[in-house]
Amino acid sequence: NILDRIAKVEPYISSYITINDEGTLSMADNIDKLIKNGEDLGDLAGIPMALKDNICTDGILTTCGSKMLQNFVPPYNATCVERLYNEKSILIGKTNMDEFAMGSSTENSAFKPTRNPWDLSRVPGGSSGGSAASVAAGEAFFALGSDTGGSIRQPAALCGLVGLKPTYGMVSRYGLVSYASSLDQIGTLTKDVEDCALVMNVIAGYDFRDSTSVSGVALDYKEALIQDVKGLKIGIPREYFYEDIDIDIKKAVYEGVKVLCDMGAEYEEMSLPYTEYNLATYFIIASSECSSNLARYDGIRYGYRASECKNLNDVLIKSRSEGFGEEVKRRIMAGTYSLSFGYYDEYYKRALKVRTLIKNDFAKAFEKYDVLITPTSPHVAFKFNEKTRDPLMMYKSDICTVGINIAGLPAISICCGFKNHLPIGLQIIGRHFDEKTILRVAYTFE
Ligand code: GLN
Repeated sequence: NILDRIAKVEPYISSYITINDEGTLSMADNIDKLIKNGEDLGDLAGIPMALKDNICTDGILTTCGSKMLQNFVPPYNATCVERLYNEKSILIGKTNMDEFAMGSSTENSAFKPTRNPWDLSRVPGGSSGGSAASVAAGEAFFALGSDTGGSIRQPAALCGLVGLKPTYGMVSRYGLVSYASSLDQIGTLTKDVEDCALVMNVIAGYDFRDSTSVSGVALDYKEALIQDVKGLKIGIPREYFYEDIDIDIKKAVYEGVKVLCDMGAEYEEMSLPYTEYNLATYFIIASSECSSNLARYDGIRYGYRASECKNLNDVLIKSRSEGFGEEVKRRIMAGTYSLSFGYYDEYYKRALKVRTLIKNDFAKAFEKYDVLITPTSPHVAFKFNEKTRDPLMMYKSDICTVGINIAGLPAISICCGFKNHLPIGLQIIGRHFDEKTILRVAYTFE
């Protein structure tokens, strides 16, 4: 039973912020009854799942890894949760994360660090580090995460999993606590590509509650589970193989490409010239949107409120100073600056213009190539505290992933090898709404 497994490994890993013990047992009982009644159940019925703690669950604590929301119990379910409940998936618990999804190692959680199941002295990646660790350690069969700049794909890479960031608009964001709304997407962390397809079949699709969710895209991801890449055109963007990327990772990714070519695909090195601006553009846009999204935590309507405040200003200042951690404050300040009068044109507006150039780079590439292949992360799982002193060093972990969110594209990370027993991630990027092709390419490796 999965709860026994959790009791055994959770003290070492710390994947979860909240474990839904009672809920798990009663959900399991319910399913037993349905089976006895001879009901026809779907692929995910009775399957234990973990949810990142920024996905709202009715009646169950949703902290976002922050002191600000340490007591927040949502009165409603996110759409993806509702859909998974309808399929009778069993919620095991809510997973640890970097505070408000800002970080790449889960070290920014206000509560505790999560350990990488492959090596307990290393981070699981982030910000969906708890979700990745829970699946890698066998504490859940699949997990949902959110990906604003790589937060599903990078932890998937560091924990040896399959991590899919769907096209922007493919999965409803209703009930996902906002970080940077034009970049955020909910997606899956699974052990293999088949599981990814099964979960996507449930969570993808139009939702009237999210105006950015897209209608009319026909969906059956199981159809993507064929191992055939004959004639597929792969682009290898040179800029994703620069000197800062671990040489063994570059080699492993090229080996992966070779496997596809042996099966009839063709590859070509090519260029995405605006790649060098990805990180700067991402951090300006993400910080700007976060400064606006996080303005709602005022200590008044909900969330943490400081005690002994003398007046309204005091409530605001003290609650926000005490409730938010260092990284979140850094981004709120940077974002407020780039949106402020006099700097807006120079930073935010300019970042939006560069965003268009980056998007055009990809659009042009997809006229010629079916998929692009890159490393997911410039390095394998790193040690605790290795990058916490220098935020820029941490930001550079996202070098291979942020461009995809800027352009709103789908991308999947799969395991393509190991370095010193630590998994290496290979990233497959596809055209908008063409998750099927990237799943097919990923499936070819299984
Ligand atoms: N690591 C990136 C950041 O710190 C991406 C986070 C995410 O995708 N939520 O912003």
